[in-house]
Amino acid sequence: MSKLNIPMVDLKGQYQTLKQEIDNGIQDVLNATSFILGPNVQALEKEVADYCGVKHAIGVASGTDALHLALLAAGIGPGDEVITTPFTFIATAEAIAYVGAKPVFVDIHPDTFNIDASLIEAAITDKTKAVLPVHMFGQSADMDSIADICKKHKLKIIEDCAQSFGAEYAGKKSGAYGDLGCFSFFPSKNLGCYGDGGMVITNDDAMAENVRMYRNHGSKVRYYHSCIGYNSRLDEMQAVILRVKLKRIDEYNTNRYNNAQAYTSKLKGSTITAPFEDGKGSHVYHQYTIMSDKRDAIHQALTDRGIASAVYYPVPLHRQEVFAEDYKDISLPNAEAVSEKVVSLPMFPELRREQIEQIMETVLSAI
Ligand SMILES: *Cc1c(COP(=O)(O)O)cnc(C)c1O
Repeated sequence: MSKLNIPMVDLKGQYQTLKQEIDNGIQDVLNATSFILGPNVQALEKEVADYCGVKHAIGVASGTDALHLALLAAGIGPGDEVITTPFTFIATAEAIAYVGAKPVFVDIHPDTFNIDASLIEAAITDKTKAVLPVHMFGQSADMDSIADICKKHKLKIIEDCAQSFGAEYAGKKSGAYGDLGCFSFFPSKNLGCYGDGGMVITNDDAMAENVRMYRNHGSKVRYYHSCIGYNSRLDEMQAVILRVKLKRIDEYNTNRYNNAQAYTSKLKGSTITAPFEDGKGSHVYHQYTIMSDKRDAIHQALTDRGIASAVYYPVPLHRQEVFAEDYKDISLPNAEAVSEKVVSLPMFPELRREQIEQIMETVLSAI
């Protein structure tokens, strides 16, 4: 069989369709030479706040920084505990560690890959200050249940929306439900720039002001510093790219959704588990992640045919070298089992039906 060349994400193809607009916007920045916190960052903050239906959006240097600065702004610090999921990218827990707090891992629901809200209450102690759910692969965690628990125990909710830009839950955009929502604009994310970038959204004026202060050297007024802050600003050039793509985000997410349905239709009657949609919100399919006992064979067959695939995530966080010693006495069976069975297939708005057929043909041939 002929070798194909299908990537996980086709950023080159997408750039070709946006080239004129992006190149012109970048040229304008070069002409204006307003490089740090310039008019495009300000405009993007307004546009994202409007899109998400919140009062404030603050551009920062990455998704990891968005989480870090959100935790600081929420007043989380040394000795505090933050409940989160073990089945996520390391940055979720790194940010908790940066502020001196302890990540408390609660197992996931094996269908949705999201934190199992029914297990959260048992993990709350008198040190717990917040719950940090991740909307894994583009589908919201069970926010109604999480919010009930957080209200009862007076905990903050900080959402990791790195994979869920534009998803909806209970009529709200991802990130608008909790106290603070954190986005990553890493190039491969649903809304991605051409470098690193991130954003924090909130309806709370004081926390918004705190994030603004932390991202810019602890300063509210230039050259007056209230606290030790960071250099964590969203870059002006990246803001140009994000503004071009934000206009098209709903179309991109719809195409992702339709691609996912096309994939799933081919899996009917097979032993492979297709992604589960819980019907509580919209899924924006950052990843299309299947589960199979033959995961490694599927991965190999795809590689042999020139089709990219990736395992997100092969090791849950409580088993990562960095955390293993501290968490050696806990076991989180769903996260552990799922990480041995998952494999994510190419997913991007421009994926063609013919490619989906070739990919699924290869997947099904391996089981
Ligand atoms: C990508 C990602 C991050 C980190 O974002 P960066 O912009 O790469 O710092 C955090 N959490 C999750 C779930 C992610 O997927």
